[in-house]
Amino acid sequence: MDDRVTILGGGLAGSEAAWQLARAGVPVELWEMKPERRSPAHVLPGLAELVCSNSLRSDNPENAVGLLHEELRRSGSLILACADETRVPAGDALAVDRERFSERVTARVEAEPLVTRVRAEATALPPGPGLAIVATGPLTGDALAAEIAGLCGGRLHFYDAIAPIVAAGSIDLEVAYARSRYGKGGGADYLNLPFDAGQYRAFVEALLAGEKVAPRAFEEPRYFEGCLPIEVMAGRGPEVLAHGPMKPVGLEDPRTGRRPHAVVQLRREDEAGTAWNLVGFQTRLTWTAQRRIFRERVPGLARAEFLRMGQVHRNTFIEAPRLLDRDLSLRARPHLFFAGQITGVEGYVESTAGGLLAARAVLDRRAGRPFRPPPEGTALGALLRHLSGRAHPEGAEYQPSNVVFSLFPPLEGRLRGKQARKLAYLERARRQLPEWTP
Ligand SMILES: Cc1cc2nc3c(=O)[nH]c(=O)nc-3n(C[C@H](O)[C@H](O)[C@H](O)COP(=O)(O)OP(=O)(O)OC[C@H]3O[C@@H](n4cnc5c(N)ncnc54)[C@H](O)[C@@H]3O)c2cc1C
Repeated sequence: MDDRVTILGGGLAGSEAAWQLARAGVPVELWEMKPERRSPAHVLPGLAELVCSNSLRSDNPENAVGLLHEELRRSGSLILACADETRVPAGDALAVDRERFSERVTARVEAEPLVTRVRAEATALPPGPGLAIVATGPLTGDALAAEIAGLCGGRLHFYDAIAPIVAAGSIDLEVAYARSRYGKGGGADYLNLPFDAGQYRAFVEALLAGEKVAPRAFEEPRYFEGCLPIEVMAGRGPEVLAHGPMKPVGLEDPRTGRRPHAVVQLRREDEAGTAWNLVGFQTRLTWTAQRRIFRERVPGLARAEFLRMGQVHRNTFIEAPRLLDRDLSLRARPHLFFAGQITGVEGYVESTAGGLLAARAVLDRRAGRPFRPPPEGTALGALLRHLSGRAHPEGAEYQPSNVVFSLFPPLEGRLRGKQARKLAYLERARRQLPEWTP
């Protein structure tokens, strides 16, 4: 057997897997097509690029993703370590300076003597028998995506969108006020742009009327429900945005003591606060329409300088429950393991977890022992339940998912209230994890 493990894709999953394997003494060949070739969403030269938000979401373990952070830290995750080292203030969320984060991951992976980097696009799947991990993500290069589609015979695409970023100096600070929701975490890690009811109505009307990027003839846009474009949400009802990304609860304006009708929240992109992300404002409006509508209709952005516009992208995933074995290897070609967003997990942290799990599965295969999955009651175990289809009702259509408590096995006994249930999930996960990661 070829001793090297080939990893295709140096994103979150691929970098995590490469580092885990190298640290375990396994030689790795890591293929990453950047900087020679970039997907439409990738711009940085390094590994592990966060393509949209700079947030790894809540760091509070009473939230399923915060629990996953905790488990990844306990399992020795490279990505979580680098995120902690490059953290920027963001309330109780784990947000990072994306450039420093990518640089840190790149440096740590490249410092591993057992990692060989190949700076080229993989246009075919490794033929075997050497083991390989496919971690090319939601924007897998076309040639490879075509081969994977042929192998899987399954649907490979749905659509996702990213939010714009504005330059700090172009935000009107007479209008914006600093406050994080309910004053959590740093209290002032967010800027808020307040709307009264009339301004909000006019904004929603402008979104509905604004010109959208037309899908190509053969495309039927299908969006991830957790990342809907704002104009799609606006089309579902006039107050939907005000109850979604523009929700003003916990964001009273300190200057008036009153809660606005709606807000646009801005989250800092870097520690110095030179760039701010419009939280939840992913959109497929044309760039011209975005500039016009945001400048004319969002209070405080009249002179906004956009560092990145919102965009919409293909998001490739395979039907994991049908195609993958329990250890994330492809049933039809067991030398190929899949990891990250391409398996139908959704999110940076979930993709990282996929890389860690695939690395563990590869180590078990190489050692000739059966795969030892994490206990089901842990967040890592819940992700595997999702990938195997066991977290979903029989016959349900497979859709990408973030880590959420509904993926976990049901709790025993009757527990009253959401908080009590969250604590019970947390307690069970903490009790079970040491069986896997002593
Ligand atoms: C537009 C968009 C916005 C998103 N926004 C968010 C967000 O805000 N928050 C969030 O939590 N998640 C977001 N996601 C979801 C997802 O979690 C991230 O995309 C995440 O980066 C996936 O991690 P990954 O390691 O699976 O893939 P990636 O991080 O995309 O890594 C894959 C790597 O493989 C490389 N590659 C691709 N094809 C080839 C090839 N043929 N040969 C060699 N290299 C190749 C790419 O250059 C890339 O570096 C978004 C996804 C998309 C598409």
